[in-house]
Amino acid sequence: MNALNADLHCHSTDSDGTLSPAEVVRRAHANGVDLLALTDHDELLGIADAAAEAADIGLRFVPGVEISVSWLDQTLHIVGLGVDPANQALISGLAQVRGGRDGRAMRIGDELARIGIHGAFEGALRYVGNPALVTRAHFARYLVEIGVAKNVHDVFLHYLARGKPGYVEHVWATLEDAVGWIKGAGGLAVVAHPGRYRLSCAEMNMLFEQFRDLGGEAVEVSCGAHDGGQLLAFARMARKYGLLASRASDFHGPEDSPIDLGRASPLPPDLTPVWTRLA
Ligand code: AMP
Ligand code: MN
Ligand code: MN
Ligand code: MN
Repeated sequence: MNALNADLHCHSTDSDGTLSPAEVVRRAHANGVDLLALTDHDELLGIADAAAEAADIGLRFVPGVEISVSWLDQTLHIVGLGVDPANQALISGLAQVRGGRDGRAMRIGDELARIGIHGAFEGALRYVGNPALVTRAHFARYLVEIGVAKNVHDVFLHYLARGKPGYVEHVWATLEDAVGWIKGAGGLAVVAHPGRYRLSCAEMNMLFEQFRDLGGEAVEVSCGAHDGGQLLAFARMARKYGLLASRASDFHGPEDSPIDLGRASPLPPDLTPVWTRLA
């Protein structure tokens, strides 16, 4: 079962990926992926096209979403796998989360203008595939285009990460709502890329405890954002909290991602993969 090439986290142009949902599915298939979830940020729009393409080419497909959450003073991402894209509470919850993005994006543009980078909001919009979903990744692509940094990573480092001049505080969904919407829509909730969160050891344990107590099922043990040490550390967290393990490239596009579809490391063999619970 662990030998299955599952990739349960990636993005299309319906959030901040650079390939359409159908292109993502075709690339996954070409890369040897056996089971794919599309998990756009706060958005279910691409699922229908992705599912149709997957059915056409004979790839097992899981409808997913990656929900932005505010927890303590951090932004966390919770992935939902196997969600019913027609579930009304999920649809309206995500609409509410997306609703704040426009105003935030305009404020990011204003903050960048204060340090002399003008027209960034309009510039970012040229990279946006879904007008309801402007992300920092779109700003990053525009800032690279105009040469303020040499790559997306450097843009985040100097302009868009917390504490940097283009960062704007924002309130996303609560952890409780995000897990509740996912479970209410028949899905499994997964803590995305925990190695990226700036939490103390005690806070990380508190997160996993709360997440499990809310009914969360899994954690991304293997993902594009984790190095080997983090993979082992979150494998221990999965064992400690009795969580299933997920494997995720978090692919955003051929030019934009360190890891391609289906290329994340294998899971440690003693962990139970989350896909054993996906139909
Ligand atoms: P947002 O939801 O608007 O805050 O945008 C978050 C997105 O920005 C993430 O999903 C990534 O695609 C991208 N991102 C965040 N931090 C980084 C980083 N350090 N390097 C590259 N991309 C990043
Ligand atoms: Mn993203
Ligand atoms: Mn994420
Ligand atoms: Mn992601």
